[in-house]
Amino acid sequence: MAATILDGTKIAADIKTEVAEQVRQLISISIRPGLAAVLVGHDPASEIYVRNKVKTCETLGIYSEKITPPETWTTEQMLQLVAELNARDDIDGILVQLPLPRQIDAKKVLLAVDPAKDVDGFHPMNVGFLSTVRPALVPCTPAGCMEILRRSGIAIEGKEAVVVGRSDIVGKPVAMLLTNANATVTICHSRTRDLPGVCRRADILVAAIGKAGMITPEFVKPGATVIDVGINRITDRTQFEQFFAGDARREASFAKNGSTLVGDVHPKVVEIAGAFTPVPGGVGPLTIAMLMSNTVKAARMRRGLEPGESK
Ligand code: NDP
Repeated sequence: MAATILDGTKIAADIKTEVAEQVRQLISISIRPGLAAVLVGHDPASEIYVRNKVKTCETLGIYSEKITPPETWTTEQMLQLVAELNARDDIDGILVQLPLPRQIDAKKVLLAVDPAKDVDGFHPMNVGFLSTVRPALVPCTPAGCMEILRRSGIAIEGKEAVVVGRSDIVGKPVAMLLTNANATVTICHSRTRDLPGVCRRADILVAAIGKAGMITPEFVKPGATVIDVGINRITDRTQFEQFFAGDARREASFAKNGSTLVGDVHPKVVEIAGAFTPVPGGVGPLTIAMLMSNTVKAARMRRGLEPGESK
């Protein structure tokens, strides 16, 4: 039977519709959620991410402010800015776009963000809340993975889940969320022995590695759900052939753009998986949707209202 495609674009659109409704309700009681996005310097990828985040805020009725300090700023100047944003009542969410220039101590800056406004969910206090199952601001990409599973009706409780990757941003929080949802979770990393064998135990396999197409069919139990967090841009023709030979649509876009995106999961996995997230159009769109959801959640929680989950 053909694998089910888990359509992240559609799920993200549903979440954004719900968030827009929550924003309308808050505005009706004179609360307008606000997000400050801080972008230091001119990293081209970061500029696109921040532009998309600000644009999505506008679409959903969330107030947004883009702050663009020069790339010569020091840690102290950043800490001063964060302190000002922490103190402002019209700002509910503070997003410091990473990476920061090398002279700025990113850990110090992220630690200075008020945990109540930490819409990326990176502050140790929010990490602690997540691990002790308290209401918290949860990192956006991991939260998005859970929304895909839940809204696609994929059972989590009692299932074997394997997460490949243990970063603070994706691997660890997604493993924590799956644990909180009563899956039996194994976390793998670069030192894991017999990675294919461990992955083959998974009913739910999450790949957050950063290595194009590393998860091949031999890593996947037939019928498993595969969530591919990886985003890798490939420009090399030989590598392209290895993944997409015979795929006319990909061929056309590769010829036009000179590159294409591939996840950490090899496209051939569709032949064995029960359900999978495509790249692009899987987990990616959920990240911004969950940032918007977190901004509304922060606006509510800061005022003592119920967090108001999007579903
Ligand atoms: P990191 O580089 O921080 O972490 C990668 C993890 O993969 C590490 O834990 C590393 O293990 C593990 N790993 C690397 N190589 C292997 C290997 N050969 N076998 C087993 N494990 C391995 O990456 P991130 O977590 O930040 O991101 C992962 C991917 O997700 C990237 O492709 C990134 O672009 C993408 N991403 C996508 C987002 C989205 O919106 N969809 C958002 C964020 C990230 P070790 O700890 O031992 O080094």
